[in-house]
Amino acid sequence: MMQVKVIYDDAMLGHAPDGYDPKRPEWTEIVRERLGELDEGGMRYTHPERPERLQAILASLEERPIEGLHLVGAEPADRDTKLLAHTAAHVDYVESYRGKSGWLHPDTTAVSGGSCEAADVAVGAAVGAVDVVLSEEGPRRAFALVRPPGHHAGPNGPEGFCLFNNVAIAALHAQERHDVERVLIVDWDVHHGNGTQAIVRDRADILHFDIHAEAPVYPGTGAVFDTGPRHRPGGLINVPVPLQSGDTVFVEALEEILAPAARHFLPDLVIVSAGYDAHPADLLMNVSEGAFAVMTEQVLALAERYCEGRIAFVLEGGYREALSTAVHASLRVLAGAEAPAIERDVDDPGRDAVLVADRFHSRPVHF
Ligand SMILES: [Zn+2]
Repeated sequence: MMQVKVIYDDAMLGHAPDGYDPKRPEWTEIVRERLGELDEGGMRYTHPERPERLQAILASLEERPIEGLHLVGAEPADRDTKLLAHTAAHVDYVESYRGKSGWLHPDTTAVSGGSCEAADVAVGAAVGAVDVVLSEEGPRRAFALVRPPGHHAGPNGPEGFCLFNNVAIAALHAQERHDVERVLIVDWDVHHGNGTQAIVRDRADILHFDIHAEAPVYPGTGAVFDTGPRHRPGGLINVPVPLQSGDTVFVEALEEILAPAARHFLPDLVIVSAGYDAHPADLLMNVSEGAFAVMTEQVLALAERYCEGRIAFVLEGGYREALSTAVHASLRVLAGAEAPAIERDVDDPGRDAVLVADRFHSRPVHF
């Protein structure tokens, strides 16, 4: 059994957008129309990024407790911490909505009265996860159960349900405030981490690996040839895969592309942008709970090999009931359980995309 800190705070339930902005009625219409597609049957408007997501995860841990897990709270991050990844204009813009409801971005990024506090605590939880795994006392494994998620928030604005980029801030916090040189960010949320990419792409000391649904799925970025400046040893590895890709594709991408890249990069810390919306319940991909367990084992193995096991998971997306079971599967593995065997499917629709990405990313860099 392994010890795992799970970081969570009720303040993050205060982010509960009701979907109306008196100042921007036209945005309200646009967003409701877009979210209608996500809403089952379009019967009732609900923002998919809702408090029940975290409550369901907590309930699953109560129903099926995992030995080794320790739940701790989180403090709101201060302004300087948010400024590690965002401009002052971005931080001020979000701050201007403290205590109010509204739309920050017409792509569906909404806030309610408690959202600013929730976003600050989400950043605080991600940073707290890094502090735990880098501390002498440990443990070296942590999972920050946060919302709002972060990986679409760029340097200069909220986007895609995300107010602040929890993971990018946590990575920069590790480098600025701890003795950490190289950070590996693994983003397996089904959507491309465009915000993370925009924040860290020029850094030679961060390797950002991102497997996601290829364009035109939101946000439409993350093409395989988008590598950033290809600084070594860090850089950007995008693995866009077609809709309905399954376990084989995600597991093989981590095995064949991420693992060799990590061997060159030699990370001092691993941070996982852990989204669970590649689960079939979210309708885009076919990644099972078992595969999420295997992927957890894969990134754990990298952390064990290169950075004394120091690994921090930070929750991103996952909007259906399956979120709680998929997170539970990851947490069981973090606490020392073995992942189930995954059957390899030679007909998995994304296998060619992984081959293409593998070939592309193993090419030598030309100047
Ligand atoms: Zn997502």
